[in-house]
Amino acid sequence: MTTEEIKNSIRNIPDFPKEGIQFKDVSTAFKDKHIFRHILSEIATHYENLGITKVVGIESRGFILGSSLAGKLHAGFIPIRKPGKLPADTYVQSYDLEYGSDSLEIHTDALDREDVVLIHDDLLATGGTVNAAVELVRRFGVTKIYVNFFVELEFLEGRDRISSEVPVWSLIHFQ
Ligand code: AMP
Repeated sequence: MTTEEIKNSIRNIPDFPKEGIQFKDVSTAFKDKHIFRHILSEIATHYENLGITKVVGIESRGFILGSSLAGKLHAGFIPIRKPGKLPADTYVQSYDLEYGSDSLEIHTDALDREDVVLIHDDLLATGGTVNAAVELVRRFGVTKIYVNFFVELEFLEGRDRISSEVPVWSLIHFQ
């Protein structure tokens, strides 16, 4: 399977959820059993020899590949969720949106400083969401952090907002 085939399986929805946004609908890639398996295998192969102990998935589309990746990498799975969803004690990190701000949470007992963490989300746009996730993981004293996306929108330069100490890798790129 070629990168182009995977790319073509992602549906573009203009002006969703608001005018001017080109929404990349990954559900059309995930519904194909061959493509889903291929994506998973490509990402897992990239991280297989790094000793990843926990995959941290960002709500909600980051849970889809994130949990399967954890299984493939023999790692645990940790959810980062929107406010008010996690039942036990949490660390909270706010981040700026185009208008206003939002926040993300993680359970305070989710990670240990010795963990080797792979943060996964479906898509990198401006980088605000993943930045907040990196800050949450750092609260535990974790030093080995990797970041992965299925899709990266390069023209939004989100990668430039992620700390240069954190290796970032995406399977599919839109210029
Ligand atoms: P950002 O914080 O700007 O990097 O936005 C990343 C988050 O918003 C990810 O969790 C994506 O699922 C979602 N997102 C942002 N822009 C898009 C887009 N154009 N298409 C699909 N999802 C998007």
